[in-house]
Amino acid sequence: MLLLKNVYLGGKTQDILIEHNCFKKIADEINDDNADIKDCTGKAILPSFCNMHTHAAMMFLKGIGEDLELFDWLQTKIWPLEAKLTGEDVYHLSKFAALEMIKTGTTMFLDMYFYVEETIKAIDEMGLRAVITYLGMDMFDEAETKRRLENAEKFMKQSVPSTRIIKGLSAHAVYTASKELIQGFKKIARAHDAFFSIHVSETKKEVEDCLKKYGKTPLALLDEWGVLDEKTIVAHAVHLTKEETDIAKKRKIVLAHNPVSNLKLNSGQMPLQAYLDKGLRVTLGTDGVSSNNSLSMIDEMKTAALSGKNIASDSTAAKVNDIFNMATINGFEALGVKTGKIEEGYEADFMLVDLNNHTLLPNINLISNMVYAADSSCITDVFCQGKPLMKNKCVENEDNIVLNFKKTCEELLKD
Ligand SMILES: [Zn+2]
Repeated sequence: MLLLKNVYLGGKTQDILIEHNCFKKIADEINDDNADIKDCTGKAILPSFCNMHTHAAMMFLKGIGEDLELFDWLQTKIWPLEAKLTGEDVYHLSKFAALEMIKTGTTMFLDMYFYVEETIKAIDEMGLRAVITYLGMDMFDEAETKRRLENAEKFMKQSVPSTRIIKGLSAHAVYTASKELIQGFKKIARAHDAFFSIHVSETKKEVEDCLKKYGKTPLALLDEWGVLDEKTIVAHAVHLTKEETDIAKKRKIVLAHNPVSNLKLNSGQMPLQAYLDKGLRVTLGTDGVSSNNSLSMIDEMKTAALSGKNIASDSTAAKVNDIFNMATINGFEALGVKTGKIEEGYEADFMLVDLNNHTLLPNINLISNMVYAADSSCITDVFCQGKPLMKNKCVENEDNIVLNFKKTCEELLKD
């Protein structure tokens, strides 16, 4: 049992008792001789973040191929370097990604990449929650489709080391994956009641090419292929038609908004407020650091708010509480995890922030400060399922993780 004393919550100081990974009791004063006590004077408690779209192991690609157009960037920089990756590389890269996530207040993420076994090992060791999805991409080559489908089947039959790790499948996009692969992956995911994720309508070019090739826009095409439901997480969804927003609502799919990546690659801006007004399930993600170049959900929130107001030409759009919910409870709910709220009965994933940090003063509106003013320097402690991942800004084994990351990058980036 853990007892947080004198922590700022909802405008006043509270005591919070954590037992069996959950917030058991929240009250003005709690005393329990059996609990470990953590004095939280001067700190506020907030839900931790859920990053709904990323490629954790892309850490080594930060700063590579800047100022290029998306397709050019993928073909000339990203894909050739990714071809050199080994499982051991992905393990060290994923550990470093987890370190950044912890330091920036994230306790759960949805990952889309290769070498999933190594990613699972790394993330489990770091104590985070994650949906680790095996990524399918066949470039319309039948032999590759078959190989990926077999790998996906095999992966979904493997056991996971803890309840914090959830397995899933993803397909890259309609321009890199065939109908057979996309439908096949969703079928396997459904058979295991697992999540399925895919990049959709990230750029105008993707939409135009899809129309030319299939006579339909990407999300409408995926609906025709029968792969959309409440366990489908669609990344980007920048350029949806009116018909496609109706489909998104009807199928209850989850949208993962990636405003930093979209702005940096000049892919366009999601009409966020229009989607929220329509009642679509919008969550937030960073995408990989190759196009971000950070995994900070605090930065992502600010960009989502600014982009949301800009695209709506309306300063009342993309309200702070909506943005904060997109980064927290909306993601956890979409992934079926009961956390993202500091309330009795919820699982204890949370962060503590220093109310004397310059970014949080004056403390008039903490949520607004988190969205617009804060950086991760205000985060002192991060907990997942009631267990500490960062204590007083220290993450266990940090020096080693950094050292191994640097060595891995050196190897991968040498000519
Ligand atoms: Zn992505």
